[in-house]
Amino acid sequence: MTNEPDRVRDVDFFATVARRVHEVRERVLAAGGRGVRLIAVTKTFGVDAVLAATAAGCEGIGENYAQELVAKFDDMSAVPEVHFIGQLQTNKVRMVAPFVAVYETVDRSSLALEIAKRAPGARILVQVDATDEPGKGGCSLGAVAELVGRCLDLGLHVEGLMTVGYTVGGPEASRGVFRMVRSLADELNLAECSMGMSGDFEVAVAEGSTQVRVGSVLFGARPPHR
Ligand SMILES: *Cc1c(COP(=O)(O)O)cnc(C)c1O
Repeated sequence: MTNEPDRVRDVDFFATVARRVHEVRERVLAAGGRGVRLIAVTKTFGVDAVLAATAAGCEGIGENYAQELVAKFDDMSAVPEVHFIGQLQTNKVRMVAPFVAVYETVDRSSLALEIAKRAPGARILVQVDATDEPGKGGCSLGAVAELVGRCLDLGLHVEGLMTVGYTVGGPEASRGVFRMVRSLADELNLAECSMGMSGDFEVAVAEGSTQVRVGSVLFGARPPHR
């Protein structure tokens, strides 16, 4: 067996990810979450991370970058449920459409229109930015209802809202944001709220998140995006 060292390392990695998935699920339960789905964020990690997370029972895979996503999934025999969670340029929709199951970052009607054209009836979340931090995408709270209506008119399957909390200030800084987004989703009769990352998923779950997007807590520190 010439490839013994590699094989051993792989088994190790899979076992580590499985243990961490279990730990995250325990923490979700302790925060009061029931039926919360785990979206394993594999950006800048390789196919092995996708396979390990899928084997460990994660309900979805999160990817941020169009080119990387296509390269990663193009030669996979069974593509898992991929959630696009990065800022999405309209001209990239066509290329990612064969692989994406859920578009989580719909924040403008031009993007909704393009998705409706390239992936009719697609499952989407409207991304809302309820922080005052720049550069993270998302429409304002006040624009959500109209955009949701527009997406429905386009025949898209609007499952809910997605948001990213504050990147500074610790998890408690985002509690109010998560609460506002959850109550807006309720007002609009939307079931799903994609809220919470490695650093703040427990607060998000306590405030009504139905799916958390976790990367580093499962796979460790991320290699930089090239
Ligand atoms: C990278 C990313 C995540 C995962 O971040 P971690 O802190 O590694 O859990 C979640 N959501 C979005 C939108 C991301 O870009």
